Amino acid sequence: MFFKIKHFIPYDCYKTVFDIDYNKLYEDGKRIILMDIDNTLIPYDVSEPSEELKKLINEIINIGFRIIFISNNHKRRVKPFADLFDSPYVYSAWKPLKKGYRKALKLTKHEHLDEIIAIGDQVMTDVLGANKVGIKCILVKPLKIVNEKWYTKLNRRIENRIIRKLKKNHYEEYLKIKELKDL
Ligand SMILES: [Mg+2]
Repeated sequence: MFFKIKHFIPYDCYKTVFDIDYNKLYEDGKRIILMDIDNTLIPYDVSEPSEELKKLINEIINIGFRIIFISNNHKRRVKPFADLFDSPYVYSAWKPLKKGYRKALKLTKHEHLDEIIAIGDQVMTDVLGANKVGIKCILVKPLKIVNEKWYTKLNRRIENRIIRKLKKNHYEEYLKIKELKDL
C-alpha cells in the first residue's frame, strides 16, 4: 500500500456537522477549520445551504474560527458557497494530494498545524489528505451517497476495504468508523 494505515484514521467521528462540539474544539486550541462541502455540508445535488446550516456556519465563525472551504469540486460550485460566509476557499483541491492543502495553508495566517482541524465525509480524500500534511480530520457520515460521482463511488469501495484493514491493528478506531457507517 502507498500510505500508512494510520493516515486513514480520523481524529474523531460524528454523524453530522451539527453534532460536533465546536466550542470544545476552540478550547482545545483549534482556530481554523478546513471544511469540505459536498456531502459534508450539502448533498451534491443541492446548491443552497438550508437556513439551519447557514446558522451553524455563522455560529462556528462567531466562536472565533476561520473556515476555509476546501473542495475537489469546481469553482462555480465552491465560490458561491464560500462567498455566502465571506470565507476563503480552495476549489479543485485534488484531495488527497498535498497541492490543495498547501493552497489552503497559504490562506491561513501561518497558524500552527495543531490549530487547524479538517472536517469531511471521505476517508480517501478528506482524512488521508489532511493526515498526510499533519492536520487532524473529523469524519462525518456522508449526507447522501446516491448522486455521487463515479470516482467518489470508487473511493467508497477502497474506503470500505481500508476500514476492514483497520479492524486488525486499530480495533477501537475501526469500531468508531464502523458505527458511523451503520448509523
Ligand atoms: Mg465530500
